[in-house]
Amino acid sequence: MTNIINPQGTGTTLEQVRTSGRRRQRRILSLCCAILAAAASSTATARQPATIAGMAPAETAGRGAKLPFVEYEAETATTDGTIIGPDRHFGTIAAEASGRRAVRLDRPGQRVEFVLDAPANALTVRYAIPDSADGRGLDTRIGIYLNGRRIATLPLTSRYAWFYGYYPFTNDPSKGGAHHFFDHARLKLNRGLPAGARIGLRREARDGVDWVAIDLADFERAPPPKTAPAGALSVLDFGADPKGVVGAEAAFRAAIARARETRRPVWVPPGQYRIDGHLFVDRVTLLGAGQWHSVLRGKGVGLYGASAPAGSQDVVIRDLAIIGEVDERKDNEQLAGIGGALSNSVIADLWLQHEKVGMWLDGPMDRLTISRLRILDQTADGVNFHRGVTRSIVEDSFIRNTGDDGLAMWSHHDLDAGNIFRRNTIISPILANGIAIYGGRDINVSDNLVADTVTEGGGLHLGSRFDATPIEGDIVFSGNMVVRGGVFDARWHTGVGAFWIYSLDHPITAARIMLRDTALIDSSYEAVQFMGKLPISGVTLDTVAIQGTGTSAFQLEAPGEAIVRNVVATGLGGGGVARAGTEFHLVDGGGNRGWATSAPLVK
Ligand code: CA
Repeated sequence: MTNIINPQGTGTTLEQVRTSGRRRQRRILSLCCAILAAAASSTATARQPATIAGMAPAETAGRGAKLPFVEYEAETATTDGTIIGPDRHFGTIAAEASGRRAVRLDRPGQRVEFVLDAPANALTVRYAIPDSADGRGLDTRIGIYLNGRRIATLPLTSRYAWFYGYYPFTNDPSKGGAHHFFDHARLKLNRGLPAGARIGLRREARDGVDWVAIDLADFERAPPPKTAPAGALSVLDFGADPKGVVGAEAAFRAAIARARETRRPVWVPPGQYRIDGHLFVDRVTLLGAGQWHSVLRGKGVGLYGASAPAGSQDVVIRDLAIIGEVDERKDNEQLAGIGGALSNSVIADLWLQHEKVGMWLDGPMDRLTISRLRILDQTADGVNFHRGVTRSIVEDSFIRNTGDDGLAMWSHHDLDAGNIFRRNTIISPILANGIAIYGGRDINVSDNLVADTVTEGGGLHLGSRFDATPIEGDIVFSGNMVVRGGVFDARWHTGVGAFWIYSLDHPITAARIMLRDTALIDSSYEAVQFMGKLPISGVTLDTVAIQGTGTSAFQLEAPGEAIVRNVVATGLGGGGVARAGTEFHLVDGGGNRGWATSAPLVK
């Protein structure tokens, strides 16, 4: 990527963001002191407010996935540890944290204590611990306490975190540039936790680990295991070991083959199954007991359709966890949780973790529906519709801590068309964008929530780049919210927008592009950016709330024009519009407030 932008033209900058960060930090510290003081003076145990992406749930209502858990940020819990952040500088631990803050526990005995707002029997903790000197990672554990009494131990590891050097990164600490610090650990308890329970996460021993950073915890009521559907073929009857001691690949392959012949579903009872490789799926249904109960684990574990153009058809996969062991990014290896080509298929209710990509689909393929996934800790994308994926959907899914775009459509030499990303929540993609559309025709991105982008990307992105087909038809971004989106791009020396369009390979002039009913909250740099040497036109912004920016409302660095209507800005860190040497016209459609005075609009 060669588009170098004049950093002087933007009027920014990092220092500005830093200063506003310090102001925020002071505000937050005084708020935290007030909360801690209130907690100490109260005899009754106040329940802790739940958050979504560090925000009050009321603030994100109607945007993103309906979540099966309640999120509590560690920085709003009771703690004797040290609150780190807020910070948005790439390479800091706080910048990768949800809400840009976390709690660091430096000594054994220190804890974070949550007070549950709702009953739970399972928890997922997002945490970071140091890496080992050789980059392979360290292990430690924390105790889980119920009202001060220890009830369980949660193992933590940095085997899947800490990458170094330049893209696509290595595990070698001598390369510098450490990032991707966090990982998730989950535990289903053998008891229920009532609302109002105090749940402590406490360091027990030093274990050669200098600190433990807790970002947040998600508490939920894991449903009981589902039962076998009528007529299903159990993998146990084909010899699969549900304790995960003996590899279960052969048993799964035999069950899948028989199921396909007999047109019966495959049943995966509760258990841990060792699968060190790909299982091929075509015209088959694979059902588990739920993502907390039926777990496929292993080196290279993945469920794969056949390669396009003769891809798989009529595949259903539901109610499983697929947890890999991918500890570095190797772009030439196929290490997705779900991959291949899957037409006329349904993927739902999966937990995907520690893979390279949650789901990487290679088209041409048609009509795949993906619903209610939880995708955590990938070294690359959450989901990628790669080349020729049509009439397919990702909906109601939760994606956190990917190593690349959370959700992407990449029309790589072959058109993605008629696809929808709706009602998804994407938090802390450690590289690139929350949602990225690279080329394509007739794309809908609606009612998603994106938060805390970290480097080389923004919240929502439309780009003509990476050898994608031209952008055509109706491209609609509607009802989305981006919180703390956009980054400082160290290669380009400029801020990237929370919403940004980039014309690198082709002009973007043949599509009707709409950004409507959108909230861009607390953007790190500019809220909206048009960038590239090639023209961008056919764009309408209608009813966009820009609330807080590090720099300007708009950053215009491409030739072209957009109609702007009801774009209302408050809390701008810089001016309304920043330009970098190109002619981009904002055409006044009426109702614009809070930003338009610094640059006259075209009538
Ligand atoms: Ca946090």
